[in-house]
Amino acid sequence: MARKKIIAGNWKMNMTPSEAVKLVAELEPLVKNDDVDVVYCVPAIDIVPVVEAVKGSNVQVGAENMYFEESGAYTGEISAAMLVDAGVKYVIIGHSERRDYFKEDDALLNKKVKKAISAGLTPILCCGESLEQREMGVTMDWIRFQIKSDLVDVTADQVKDIVIAYEPIWAIGTGKTATTEQAEEVCKGIRECIAQMYDQATADAVRIQYGGSVNAGNAAELFAQPNIDGGLVGGASLKADFGKIVCY
Ligand code: PEP
Repeated sequence: MARKKIIAGNWKMNMTPSEAVKLVAELEPLVKNDDVDVVYCVPAIDIVPVVEAVKGSNVQVGAENMYFEESGAYTGEISAAMLVDAGVKYVIIGHSERRDYFKEDDALLNKKVKKAISAGLTPILCCGESLEQREMGVTMDWIRFQIKSDLVDVTADQVKDIVIAYEPIWAIGTGKTATTEQAEEVCKGIRECIAQMYDQATADAVRIQYGGSVNAGNAAELFAQPNIDGGLVGGASLKADFGKIVCY
């Protein structure tokens, strides 16, 4: 069965609640494409108003982060149950900004992935290499290490429903997109890694996005690759261009 493309916006730390509602209304007529899953991953404080604002549309809401504990004394954190209750369907886990600025390591991310799945959320699990790693020729070794560590004790049945986002760190927010060949090569490598860890059917089911300076001009070519099942889009998700990416 063909994999349905999934195109998700990562709003990062942008948009106040009132700005968020305005943006949803502006994008509403532009993002109608039933052939793809459309997701807005929004700051925690925007979740409730954005869930309300997208009601009745083809858009689903994601969070940008969550904590793995059930509840308790974890000041400032948000649980999977809170996200589910608010109407969230997806959660970004392991974005390179969280790995880098907030020192989230793979052991923590593995706990988050398992908690998200058990709560009924779909993780969008990010991985990607730095420029130094690419130049050293260790890109695929690094990504295999991330994927294997982040999916410890996650079953084949669970993995087939998650989304993996390949995001080369050097391409995020830089305007420097990986070439179509580079993006496809790594997404294919991720699928091979999943096939080795589980089986071919699981690898064929999992959706793998590319992220890193995706824009209205490069989306169609990237998404036409056999192993790229859509995109995780930062900067361009905050403007009308996101409609062009969704309707590529
Ligand atoms: C991202 O934040 O996940 C991202 C890919 O950002 P940008 O599209 O701005 O490079």
